[in-house]
Amino acid sequence: MMIVGVDLGGTQLRVRMCRADKTLLAERKTLLEDRSPDAVVALLAELVAEMQEENNLQKFSLTVSCAVAGMLDKTGRIVRNAPNLKWREEPFADNIQSTIEEAQHVVLWNDLDAATWGEYKSGEGQGLSEVAAVFVGSGVGGGLVLGGRPFRGGSGVSAEVGHLKYRPEGRSCGCGARGCVEAYAGGHSLARIAEEVAANGSSPFLQERASNKGEQPLSAADIAAGVEANDPVCKEIFEQAGDALGWALSHLLTIINPESIILGGGVLLNWPALAELAKERALHYTSTPAGEAVSFVTSQLGNEAGMVGAVELADTITQK
Ligand SMILES: [Zn+2]
Repeated sequence: MMIVGVDLGGTQLRVRMCRADKTLLAERKTLLEDRSPDAVVALLAELVAEMQEENNLQKFSLTVSCAVAGMLDKTGRIVRNAPNLKWREEPFADNIQSTIEEAQHVVLWNDLDAATWGEYKSGEGQGLSEVAAVFVGSGVGGGLVLGGRPFRGGSGVSAEVGHLKYRPEGRSCGCGARGCVEAYAGGHSLARIAEEVAANGSSPFLQERASNKGEQPLSAADIAAGVEANDPVCKEIFEQAGDALGWALSHLLTIINPESIILGGGVLLNWPALAELAKERALHYTSTPAGEAVSFVTSQLGNEAGMVGAVELADTITQK
């Protein structure tokens, strides 16, 4: 048996072929030109066939473990909603299994659940049993390891801390609801807030940045620069984002009582001051015993976490 780890994002497909002991044999990375499910499966089949041939592996059965940026069903067979791919109710696992002849086991994972497992197995979670991860990139999401096992939840959507309602009547969120943590602290939302305050003139700093950047939109990094430059509006946005994240983290601390919380995602990794503020606010919102028990750690695997997690999760499929 060989393991095929897959990381399917909104713009790129990564595939890794490994031996059963996870030794890496071959890897491919390619941008998605056609994001339709059939085209993605055909591309995956083509890359797998190439790697099989190169390494003389045609005789071996495959366990395909696939991290997908989207919401899945509980069984890990169907992509229920992947906004970046524009997929709804796609039977992706069945499609892979009927296209790749050697695919004996196929299972799908939410990409952040896979990334959490990757960190747990190879990064910062090693040796622990109760671990939570929160990733702040364009959105805010998370994953859980409970009792040393990956935890999907009752219908596969656990640890969606980005959609806790921080300000119930507040800013609108990409999910369609109002006031979510993500609407105050996600990378896309921070960029939108920066554009708004630049346009309404309340932050001369961001106004100047916007005019210097021309067509290029503002981002969380511009707010970070504004905080450095002591711009009061940027500081307000920063404090609100840190508070929203800390408030979300306090729910994980209070309910799960994790030994460790892993913080990752591009926005947090590139803006350590925001991660620091989020930790401080998390402890402020949490009772002492749970707060004292946790250690906050920084993601070690970065963009690799989802891929590493997908390969590691192959064990949990074959054990079933
Ligand atoms: Zn939301």
